[in-house]
Amino acid sequence: MMDKFNYSQLLTRAKLEQLRTIAVSLIADDSYAMTFQTMGQYRTALMKRLAELDLQPHSQLNPDLVVMPKTLTAENGAKSALISEFHVTSEQTCSYCEGEGKASDGTDCIDCDGGGTQILFHDVPWDTIKNIYKKAVSVCEVKP
Ligand SMILES: [Zn+2]
Repeated sequence: MMDKFNYSQLLTRAKLEQLRTIAVSLIADDSYAMTFQTMGQYRTALMKRLAELDLQPHSQLNPDLVVMPKTLTAENGAKSALISEFHVTSEQTCSYCEGEGKASDGTDCIDCDGGGTQILFHDVPWDTIKNIYKKAVSVCEVKP
Protein backbone atom coordinates (compact mmCIF):
# COMPACT_ATOMS: atom_id res chain seq x y z
CA MET A 1 0.00 0.00 0.00
CA MET A 2 1.23 3.47 -0.85
CA ASP A 3 2.04 5.94 1.90
CA LYS A 4 -0.20 8.95 2.18
CA PHE A 5 1.17 11.87 0.21
CA ASN A 6 2.50 14.47 2.62
CA TYR A 7 1.08 17.75 1.34
CA SER A 8 2.73 19.71 4.13
CA GLN A 9 6.02 19.12 2.34
CA LEU A 10 4.76 20.43 -0.97
CA LEU A 11 6.48 23.54 -2.24
CA THR A 12 4.99 25.93 -4.72
CA ARG A 13 6.23 25.82 -8.27
CA ALA A 14 7.57 29.38 -7.90
CA LYS A 15 9.42 28.42 -4.75
CA LEU A 16 10.96 25.37 -6.39
CA GLU A 17 12.02 27.45 -9.38
CA GLN A 18 13.62 30.00 -7.07
CA LEU A 19 15.52 27.28 -5.20
CA ARG A 20 16.64 25.68 -8.47
CA THR A 21 17.97 29.02 -9.71
CA ILE A 22 19.93 29.57 -6.50
CA ALA A 23 21.37 26.03 -6.59
CA VAL A 24 22.36 26.28 -10.28
CA SER A 25 24.05 29.67 -9.84
CA LEU A 26 25.93 28.37 -6.81
CA ILE A 27 27.15 25.26 -8.63
CA ALA A 28 28.01 27.23 -11.79
CA ASP A 29 30.17 29.74 -9.87
CA ASP A 30 33.76 28.68 -10.72
CA SER A 31 35.29 31.33 -8.47
CA TYR A 32 33.39 29.82 -5.53
CA ALA A 33 34.46 26.30 -6.49
CA MET A 34 38.13 27.33 -6.80
CA THR A 35 38.25 28.42 -3.15
CA PHE A 36 38.23 24.80 -2.04
CA GLN A 37 41.29 22.56 -1.79
CA THR A 38 39.42 19.29 -2.30
CA MET A 39 36.27 18.06 -3.97
CA GLY A 40 35.12 16.79 -0.58
CA GLN A 41 35.36 20.28 0.97
CA TYR A 42 33.52 21.76 -2.03
CA ARG A 43 30.77 19.16 -1.83
CA THR A 44 30.37 19.66 1.93
CA ALA A 45 30.13 23.44 1.49
CA LEU A 46 27.56 23.09 -1.33
CA MET A 47 25.44 20.74 0.72
CA LYS A 48 25.58 23.12 3.69
CA ARG A 49 24.52 26.10 1.54
CA LEU A 50 21.66 24.12 -0.02
CA ALA A 51 20.51 22.96 3.41
CA GLU A 52 20.35 26.59 4.54
CA LEU A 53 17.93 27.60 1.78
CA ASP A 54 14.42 28.41 2.88
CA LEU A 55 12.42 25.25 2.39
CA GLN A 56 9.45 26.25 4.48
CA PRO A 57 6.36 24.64 2.96
CA HIS A 58 3.53 26.83 1.75
CA SER A 59 5.46 30.01 2.43
CA GLN A 60 4.04 31.58 -0.73
CA LEU A 61 0.57 30.09 -0.70
CA ASN A 62 -2.55 32.14 -0.16
CA PRO A 63 -3.75 31.27 3.38
CA ASP A 64 -7.32 31.00 2.06
CA LEU A 65 -6.31 28.14 -0.21
CA VAL A 66 -5.43 24.58 0.64
CA VAL A 67 -3.52 21.97 -1.32
CA MET A 68 -5.70 18.97 -2.04
CA PRO A 69 -5.36 15.95 -4.28
CA LYS A 70 -7.23 16.11 -7.61
CA THR A 71 -9.03 12.88 -6.87
CA LEU A 72 -10.09 10.98 -3.80
CA THR A 73 -8.60 7.51 -3.54
CA ALA A 74 -7.94 4.78 -1.05
CA GLU A 75 -4.23 5.41 -1.53
CA ASN A 76 -4.36 9.05 -0.40
CA GLY A 77 -6.38 8.11 2.66
CA ALA A 78 -9.64 9.70 1.53
CA LYS A 79 -11.65 6.50 1.21
CA SER A 80 -11.21 5.32 4.77
CA ALA A 81 -11.70 8.86 6.09
CA LEU A 82 -14.85 9.68 4.11
CA ILE A 83 -16.71 6.42 3.59
CA SER A 84 -19.76 6.32 5.88
CA GLU A 85 -19.18 10.00 6.68
CA PHE A 86 -22.17 11.22 4.64
CA HIS A 87 -25.67 9.84 4.43
CA VAL A 88 -29.14 10.54 3.18
CA THR A 89 -32.31 9.59 5.00
CA SER A 90 -35.57 8.05 3.98
CA GLU A 91 -38.73 7.39 5.91
CA GLN A 92 -40.59 4.12 5.88
CA THR A 93 -43.57 2.66 7.64
CA CYS A 94 -42.54 1.06 10.92
CA SER A 95 -42.06 -2.62 10.30
CA TYR A 96 -42.83 -3.54 13.90
CA CYS A 97 -46.24 -1.85 14.29
CA GLU A 98 -46.94 -1.55 10.56
CA GLY A 99 -47.55 2.18 10.91
CA GLU A 100 -50.09 1.99 13.77
CA GLY A 101 -47.69 3.48 16.30
CA LYS A 102 -49.06 1.16 18.98
CA ALA A 103 -47.98 -2.24 20.21
CA SER A 104 -50.57 -5.00 20.65
CA ASP A 105 -50.99 -4.00 24.32
CA GLY A 106 -51.91 -0.44 23.34
CA THR A 107 -48.67 1.17 24.45
CA ASP A 108 -46.52 3.25 22.09
CA CYS A 109 -44.49 1.14 19.70
CA ILE A 110 -40.94 0.83 21.01
CA ASP A 111 -39.44 0.84 17.53
CA CYS A 112 -40.96 4.11 16.31
CA ASP A 113 -41.91 5.74 19.64
CA GLY A 114 -45.53 5.79 18.49
CA GLY A 115 -44.85 7.75 15.30
CA GLY A 116 -45.59 4.85 12.95
CA THR A 117 -42.54 5.54 10.80
CA GLN A 118 -38.84 4.88 10.96
CA ILE A 119 -36.01 6.97 9.54
CA LEU A 120 -33.46 4.98 7.57
CA PHE A 121 -29.91 6.22 7.06
CA HIS A 122 -28.19 5.34 3.80
CA ASP A 123 -24.46 5.93 3.30
CA VAL A 124 -23.66 8.10 0.30
CA PRO A 125 -21.91 5.68 -2.05
CA TRP A 126 -18.15 6.04 -2.39
CA ASP A 127 -18.45 6.65 -6.13
CA THR A 128 -20.88 9.52 -5.47
CA ILE A 129 -18.51 11.12 -2.95
CA LYS A 130 -15.70 10.88 -5.49
CA ASN A 131 -17.87 12.38 -8.24
CA ILE A 132 -18.96 15.31 -6.05
CA TYR A 133 -15.36 15.98 -5.12
CA LYS A 134 -14.23 15.71 -8.74
CA LYS A 135 -16.87 18.26 -9.77
CA ALA A 136 -15.88 20.59 -6.90
CA VAL A 137 -12.25 20.43 -8.01
CA SER A 138 -13.19 21.21 -11.62
CA VAL A 139 -15.30 24.18 -10.53
CA CYS A 140 -13.03 25.62 -7.82
CA GLU A 141 -9.52 24.68 -8.94
CA VAL A 142 -7.09 27.59 -8.82
CA LYS A 143 -4.60 27.31 -11.66
CA PRO A 144 -1.11 28.65 -11.00
ZN1 LIG B 1 -43.70 1.27 15.22
